Amino acid sequence: MGRMTPTIDEIRIYKVPLPAKTLYNMSSSAVVTPESTIVELIDSDGIIAYGEVCMATPQAQDATNESIRSALSLLAPSVIGANPMNLDSIITTMNSVLKGENEAKAAIDIACWDLIGKRLGKSVAELLGGNMTNEVITYHVVGITSPESAAAEAGRLQSDGISRLQLKAGGRPIEEDIASIKAVTEVIKIGSTLDVDTNRGWTESEAIRVSVACSDINFGLEQPCATKEELSRIKPRILHPLIIDESATDITTISKMVFSEIADGFGMKISRVGGLTPMKVIRDFCLETRTPMSSDDAWGGDIIGAAGVALGSTMPNHLNRGAWLAHPYHQVHYDPINGPRIENGVIRLPKGGPGLGLVIEKGTFGDPEQIYENNN
Ligand SMILES: [Mg+2]
Repeated sequence: MGRMTPTIDEIRIYKVPLPAKTLYNMSSSAVVTPESTIVELIDSDGIIAYGEVCMATPQAQDATNESIRSALSLLAPSVIGANPMNLDSIITTMNSVLKGENEAKAAIDIACWDLIGKRLGKSVAELLGGNMTNEVITYHVVGITSPESAAAEAGRLQSDGISRLQLKAGGRPIEEDIASIKAVTEVIKIGSTLDVDTNRGWTESEAIRVSVACSDINFGLEQPCATKEELSRIKPRILHPLIIDESATDITTISKMVFSEIADGFGMKISRVGGLTPMKVIRDFCLETRTPMSSDDAWGGDIIGAAGVALGSTMPNHLNRGAWLAHPYHQVHYDPINGPRIENGVIRLPKGGPGLGLVIEKGTFGDPEQIYENNN
């Protein structure tokens, strides 16, 4: 390793289609062929590190895959020449160049964590405070379908060792959602848990009606309505724990929701908040206030998957809502050996080396879309 202060000398941006194996239905959209954006950082000692973000559907987030690459065309040149070990300074630089655009910033942030880990010979989990487990619990989604198929899928998943189920709902008459919740409840085994996630799909009155109609059933109600205001109005009128996902955008919003007793837990997405650095702050706050949270992203391959699992491994099980992976839906994997995979309801931390623990062969992503170099 060089004695000189290391610098980020080259950034390559790749566009990687992730064709889905099976259909994945949410309240407002279906996921067909998401496209991942990969950020490859190369430092002055030739160490290569990776970040990734992937927007599954244009309806789910503010950013699109196109807006992410456009934001990266400003962000990437701004951090060329920076010392990758000074991540806080890199984040300050990115925030001064471009307001918002958390998703694009997340890709660079994740790549920096991978690079710092590789330079120090430590895993990202160690850098985040140290892993409490090598096996992170996962949850699995039952998409929007008939009550009969939802129940059959929930049964099959539990036979595969998945104990945390998330049933998608919304975008259809609530009677059908209620029928699906009841059908799935029939097959929920002791030790399994259920969340009902509408991805902002219900009105306030629909959310209240579903909660009242299912008052005798245990489940978490995840992001039943679109806005923070709607969620705070329904909170005193629903009978189920309220889990906030899409509206949990930053630590200020999250802390207000905990202190005003609106949130009983969070579904946290790395790209929405801007990377592992802000996720670490949110994790610390959630652990301090004993609020369960998940740690993953809405879609993406082995890199973003490994980032979510790394953070998830640093939380105790009872406050960890789990890490979700898109890999069961994918036909494409970047690291077939070490890439994070679901086995018996858990995901083992990747062990391919320091950083995110992945070994990515040269050429895996084809030709870069954009290259930024240090010309000094
Ligand atoms: Mg959700």
